[in-house]
Amino acid sequence: MNLKKVSPRFFISDQLSVTDIGIAAAQGIRTIVNNRPDGEEQTQPTTSELREAAESLGLGFVDLPIKPGKITDEHIEKFEALSRDTPAPMLSFCRSGARAMSLWALAEARTLNVDAVLATAEEAGHDLESLRDRLVARAAAGVSVPTAAAEPTRAKSYDVVVVGGGTGGISTAMGLLKRRSNLDILIVEPRDAHYYQPGWTLVGGGVFDRAKTQRKMADVMPDGVDWKRAAVAEFEPERNSVILEDGERIQYRALVTATGIKLDWDAIDGLRETLGKNGVTSNYLYDMAPYTWQLVQDLRKGRALFTQPPMPIKCAGAPQKAMYLSCDHWLSMGRLKDIDVEFHNAGGVLFGVADYVPALMNYVEKYDAKLCLNENLVAVDGPAKKAWFDRTNEDGSKERIESEFDMMHVCPVQTAPDVIRNSDLANDGGWVDVSAETLQHTRYGNIFAVGDVASAPNAKTAAAIRKQAPVVADNVIGVLDGMAPHAVYDGYGSCPLTVERGRIVLAEFGYGGKHLPTFPQWIINSFEPSRLAWLLKEKMLPAIYWDLLLKGREWLVDVERLPQVPAAHEASPAYETATK
Ligand code: FAD
Repeated sequence: MNLKKVSPRFFISDQLSVTDIGIAAAQGIRTIVNNRPDGEEQTQPTTSELREAAESLGLGFVDLPIKPGKITDEHIEKFEALSRDTPAPMLSFCRSGARAMSLWALAEARTLNVDAVLATAEEAGHDLESLRDRLVARAAAGVSVPTAAAEPTRAKSYDVVVVGGGTGGISTAMGLLKRRSNLDILIVEPRDAHYYQPGWTLVGGGVFDRAKTQRKMADVMPDGVDWKRAAVAEFEPERNSVILEDGERIQYRALVTATGIKLDWDAIDGLRETLGKNGVTSNYLYDMAPYTWQLVQDLRKGRALFTQPPMPIKCAGAPQKAMYLSCDHWLSMGRLKDIDVEFHNAGGVLFGVADYVPALMNYVEKYDAKLCLNENLVAVDGPAKKAWFDRTNEDGSKERIESEFDMMHVCPVQTAPDVIRNSDLANDGGWVDVSAETLQHTRYGNIFAVGDVASAPNAKTAAAIRKQAPVVADNVIGVLDGMAPHAVYDGYGSCPLTVERGRIVLAEFGYGGKHLPTFPQWIINSFEPSRLAWLLKEKMLPAIYWDLLLKGREWLVDVERLPQVPAAHEASPAYETATK
């Protein structure tokens, strides 16, 4: 919780958790106002959970949800009434605090000087300059102004706007600055923490402390870029602009989309309610990976289920990596003989690239794990310790099967983020529709995608971004110079399959499953478990991630470049104006 005092009677915060409500109560808060609609983010607690927590502590709780960028006069009036009528101090929250801050500013502008309102917001960490015209109008009217004024009024402009400050966004921004240090770049990213997600497998396997996998977002932001701590709510590719959740419109000459993938916990009935308790865990969340290790250590006998949803998912090997590391622990403790291990995979093969399957099958057999292919997890009842799977039989018929468990590691269903899926940037599957080679949008020539959100059919991994970021950086610069993209991505992705503590099968491949090893085979044989590959993962990859990839040092990346030619200027109407 990032609690900010705005006035003696009013506080704002980013998303509250149930435990944050207790902290707020201890700080003397008496009323909590929720400005965030339910379901904006997968890990967001529901309004009813928060209300229950607040009311159990004797706090008032008011639901005043606002869609990003859509503060209406009605919202402001309701907020004014709340400020008058509910016990103070009041704490309003949303995803980042921006909507809560904007609402206060719009209400107070009737009576306070607009510059003072803006300065107060600035002190609380929110730049509301884009609302100035609307604040001035409210100050002049002294009363509500028409809803039309909710439209953003001033647009800042950048050479490049990068949406998302994860692996792809930060490394591409760095790559751009390395190529041209005077570029005016904005990164839009709502989180204040950046995660090294590949480390979560090792957290769940008891090898890493999870603190090693998190850094402050401010510490990974490249020097020389502006960071807007907000989420993009809408894309306007025809106008070369994006609209942020606080309503601000930002213009760009080129746009890089790097919003990652959505973890859809609600796609499996009952999962959200039981995640983190009743033996149900997932390495796909920072908060949850330590629970995996706790469950593995505690399990002495019974049944352990590991599940994999339909593709695409990020790190396609992560669901089975969790299984191998758990089994290795149980084997070393002499417990594996008393534990039935099952791998339920919605797909029909153990791993998508056939060359690596024999080495992996050796471990499935070594651990005596039951391989349940074509079985998709659809529901879970945590307290009853039961899970249900839809199995597709060879003749195409389907049946629902039930399995009991003592521990279950779930890999969630994954889709394109809603903000992308519902935009003009999306292909039919919801992903940013880009060329698999140049990563340039197929309709908007000044838009690119990097990382998990791109439609390119590579393995969605940080390793892929190591090769994609230089390609996107090169091609963005080319487009800004009026040239056609010429750097080409070969589909490289990598999956270090942790088959036991101390050994890894290092799968590295490009489009069509083409074997693309980084090291000569005599150093690391990709098709056999390797100790050196484990050392690489445990000791070197975290440093490679933080100090090379995120710093734009393009280590062992040999980008293929075609001859550079002027752009044809036909990809989009916006493209011509944006590149002039
Ligand atoms: P992310 O790094 O997820 O970043 C997306 C960012 O976009 C986030 O910070 C988010 O807040 C932001 N965002 C979202 N919506 C908006 C919006 N509307 N406006 C602004 N910002 C927004 N990869 C490997 O290479 N090797 C591995 O061994 C490996 N193991 C893995 C194990 C696990 C358990 C997991 C979960 C992942 C693993 N990966 C691995 C995958 C790798 O971590 C991801 O593929 C990679 O981090 C994706 O980077 P990204 O930039 O596309 O997305």
